[in-house]
Amino acid sequence: MCDIRRINRLKATSKKFTAALSEIDPSELISKDHVTKTGLTFTDMAEKLEKIKSCSSIIELKSDFIQVNDSFEQVMKVSAANFCKQPSVCPICADRSQARRRVRFDSPIKEQARLVEQGKRHAYIVTQTITDTDNLGERLEALKEANKNFRKMGQRRRNGKRSTGEAGKYVAAISSIEVKRGSGSGQWHIHNHALVFTDEQIDFRV
Ligand SMILES: [Zn+2]
Repeated sequence: MCDIRRINRLKATSKKFTAALSEIDPSELISKDHVTKTGLTFTDMAEKLEKIKSCSSIIELKSDFIQVNDSFEQVMKVSAANFCKQPSVCPICADRSQARRRVRFDSPIKEQARLVEQGKRHAYIVTQTITDTDNLGERLEALKEANKNFRKMGQRRRNGKRSTGEAGKYVAAISSIEVKRGSGSGQWHIHNHALVFTDEQIDFRV
């Protein structure tokens, strides 16, 4: 897909999201003198929302020529823009940071996949989930803590042996947390998706 078409599509999603947010009166949710854990004031958050709204409103294009059979085709690519740099909430910036991650993790994942083909690794998709509630921050912390405890169960101990735990079989893994509203409950539903490579088969009974 062409860069500009992709940005347009993501911008449409972003517009829907920011329009929905603009309909909410934030002062009904939090008081004007509220300061977040990371030190953001009410005005800081309003400014951030404005930045997300105007993300990629100015873009600089450069043209490239690619060979298609016997002829050349001109392709326009985005070379710079006023990105808001808020990847956790802006679809355009999330897409950009995802592309960077893809480049970073592509070859290590392929390397592990080759070892799976050679029978030296096992591959799994592991999903961890947690009960839905209304407190997003608390849910995220609880999921991260539970995941940490699960991984600790497989850690190497001082005597060189591993403690019992299936996570001890992990040799490589990559994960991301997905956050959404539960369709039935309307509460925060979060889960952790992981691609895991192990040196031994995981025992599902454990
Ligand atoms: Zn953005």
